[in-house]
Amino acid sequence: MQITEHIHALKIPFQVHVNAATALDRFVYVYLIYGRKIYLIDTGVAGTEQTIFEYIKQTGRDPAEISLMILTHSHPDHIGAARAIKDLAGCSTAAHASEIPWIEDIELQYIERTVPGFHSLVGGSLEVDQVLKDGDIITLEDDLELQVYHTPGHSSGSISLMLLPDKALFSGDVVPLPGDIPIYDDIFTSLDSLKKLEAIEEIRVMLSAWDEPRKNQDAYNTIDAGLKYLQNIHEVVINNAAAYSALSEPRWCRSILEKLGIPGAAANPLVGRSFKSHLNLLSDPPGSSRSN
Ligand SMILES: [Zn+2]
Repeated sequence: MQITEHIHALKIPFQVHVNAATALDRFVYVYLIYGRKIYLIDTGVAGTEQTIFEYIKQTGRDPAEISLMILTHSHPDHIGAARAIKDLAGCSTAAHASEIPWIEDIELQYIERTVPGFHSLVGGSLEVDQVLKDGDIITLEDDLELQVYHTPGHSSGSISLMLLPDKALFSGDVVPLPGDIPIYDDIFTSLDSLKKLEAIEEIRVMLSAWDEPRKNQDAYNTIDAGLKYLQNIHEVVINNAAAYSALSEPRWCRSILEKLGIPGAAANPLVGRSFKSHLNLLSDPPGSSRSN
């Protein structure tokens, strides 16, 4: 589906096998930037290379034209097909420094952040050729530039990217959707990152990995709704902080989810990790600059 002059979106459905009996239906958006060459924002899960290559051929282009893959972060549904695409198209890869260890060594990622069905979602480790940081401008071609925003929280090296001629913002997994299962490493940097995105002038379209394209004011409303959702979660977690020591962690996690109106059955260690990050505020040293 073509979104702007240069951008095409592919919605990739996949399943997460939580256990032998249960599979969760999920999806992720992958974006292609068409210039004289082709550039990818994220790659989807293992096997997505077939869908991407097929789409490129259908639109009269050649998969060999892919020259760069930019990974918004290292999670399985973003890097899963990256190894295969790199092998087949011979392109280079770019990501934020904080994400590189988990891209270059997927076993390390599996040990440190165990997603169910991990090995069916990720095709393999790959080398990152270009290290990105906040404020970088990536010149894809003379008239095609991407501005890099470091937007940590969901993960420490999550980035968002603005394609300057189209004023299109790729936001990866940075903007949470109200009612969705909350997944982030750190609530405080998440809040700061949403404020940072909200302050960007003239977003004509926001392209999230887990939401449909949001145009103009709808983009800002979506960021604001994400911000309010996280603030609401923060209130609920802080109001129930005392229960953390009284309950086992899975039970505490379930009780917080239910207070948020999400079925407790959705509780898992990744959600627990999100909620626990709120409690870091309570152990902040006096005089900490943190004010959220
Ligand atoms: Zn993610």
